[in-house]
Amino acid sequence: MQREVIRRFMRALVETPSIGRAAVDEALRACSNFDGLDGLIDRFLFDCERASSAEKFLIDKCGIDLDSGDTGSIIGVDTSSVVKPNVVDYPATTSFELDGLTVNVPPQNTLDKIQRLIVRNLYNWQLKGALELIQESYGENYSFDPRGAATVRELEIKFVSSGNFMARAGHRYMLKTGATSALALQINTAYYDADGTWTGEISFERVLAHEMTHAVMAANIIHYAELPAYIKEGIAELTHGINDQRRSMIESLSSDAATLRAALSSSGGTMYAAGYMLMRYFARQAAR
Ligand SMILES: [Zn+2]
Repeated sequence: MQREVIRRFMRALVETPSIGRAAVDEALRACSNFDGLDGLIDRFLFDCERASSAEKFLIDKCGIDLDSGDTGSIIGVDTSSVVKPNVVDYPATTSFELDGLTVNVPPQNTLDKIQRLIVRNLYNWQLKGALELIQESYGENYSFDPRGAATVRELEIKFVSSGNFMARAGHRYMLKTGATSALALQINTAYYDADGTWTGEISFERVLAHEMTHAVMAANIIHYAELPAYIKEGIAELTHGINDQRRSMIESLSSDAATLRAALSSSGGTMYAAGYMLMRYFARQAAR
């Protein structure tokens, strides 16, 4: 598999103590019969020169089919019959599909530069990354897979420019059944500077993983709204982990049981941390 080769190459690049060109040599040797960068380039140029046409060289030797609609991202390389991901494009319409989820975004001409940048990043990799992390963390049930149990498979992206939250997932549900019927993700542009650089205290990807955990859980758990807040927040924090982000909070909560107990029924950061600690404790004990 081509993708596996690249993965092994990338892994070797990370693991090798060598630097620069020597590191590339080593990484190439680790996953191929090429004896290094010089040998690879020699062979590359030789095949190009010898090919009967440029197209043949690209398709036969490089696996690049310029007419396939594929951007050439490594993710799509081994699945030539599948629609390829557009890794650098802006969505063509105001909605796009992602692993069973339809994501609705405002029309491009109503968005400013920063908002367009956010949509572009969500579309190209951030949302997919968050969904994959969540499914990897919590299993097959936690997705928008059409074969799954999600009661809603649509997400509205909305922008706000004030408030003391970086992003926020919201859901509406049927009072009668407890089934979620609508999902929204608000993103607060106040946390971006004029150049479009994220200024939140933790990365936007982690904020997104947290918020999308809420969305995925709400879509799949009937009466999600009824879960204790510290369970909802504790699991959302578990998705990306907070040992670094909330270290001092965890330290202080763990040093006093009364404070810890109070934290579970409080709000804000200490409740999040306490919920996270609870889930970690549960996992550890249940696994014994
Ligand atoms: Zn949350």
